[in-house]
Amino acid sequence: MTHTNERLRWVIGNWKQNKLRFEARELAEAVAQGRASAVGAAEDRVRVGIAPTFLCLDLAVPFAPPGDALWLFAQNVGAQDFGAFTGEIGPTMLLDAGVNGAIIGHSERREHFWETDEDIERKLRCALAAGLQVVLCIGEPLEIREAEQHETFVISQLSTAFFNIPPEHITERLVLAYEPIWAIGTGKTATPAEASAMHHAIRTWMGETFGANGRDRSILYGGSVKPANAAALLAAPDIDGFLVGGASLDAASFLDIVRTAAGG
Ligand code: PEP
Repeated sequence: MTHTNERLRWVIGNWKQNKLRFEARELAEAVAQGRASAVGAAEDRVRVGIAPTFLCLDLAVPFAPPGDALWLFAQNVGAQDFGAFTGEIGPTMLLDAGVNGAIIGHSERREHFWETDEDIERKLRCALAAGLQVVLCIGEPLEIREAEQHETFVISQLSTAFFNIPPEHITERLVLAYEPIWAIGTGKTATPAEASAMHHAIRTWMGETFGANGRDRSILYGGSVKPANAAALLAAPDIDGFLVGGASLDAASFLDIVRTAAGG
């Protein structure tokens, strides 16, 4: 292992609205088969996850048996566990289906489906209370970055998201992902220095708000991560892995990123 801190590293593939069922099955199987050799001796420090569409989660369950081998995430989750909420799927239903966790607050949900910081707070609260693993996404649009308001913007996203979260729910089950919107799917990556500065600000806020439990959460970077830029980003002190979009749709490139995160 080349990294020195004790935080878990995560590499999670967000497949978005891609892959038919037969393709999803093939990709899940390829990732599951290649995972152990990509992770190598870092098994206890590196976790690998995939986030297929809701319709393909069941196909991936056999490749993600209980234990830490491969983690299965939904790309979204409802803000209520059960009830008259047509079209929604709650955290307990995901756990019941063999899914480990969910991505919450992805910028595409905020942008295209008008999810607000308050919606995200309700989803986060419900998911953590139900015992779901969560990847909470935060990140600023280009105009906010250009106005140099990015730290204020992201800290405001955090303070709303965590407004009602009991401190006892700030555990390993919570992972954060900083994803500058201008870097998602654009081929533009934040420089390691830009990403690192934001991760440091996020970690500082989490520490001030929740003490050591907040400070020690894994913070992933997302935004055009590829095998070619993963090592440079991981060299930054506060970057604990990646949420990967485009490059996770191909098993070989995703596993290359996992190998880098594992220090090989
Ligand atoms: C994402 O969707 O979370 C993401 C980071 O996408 P991409 O890697 O394609 O920029």
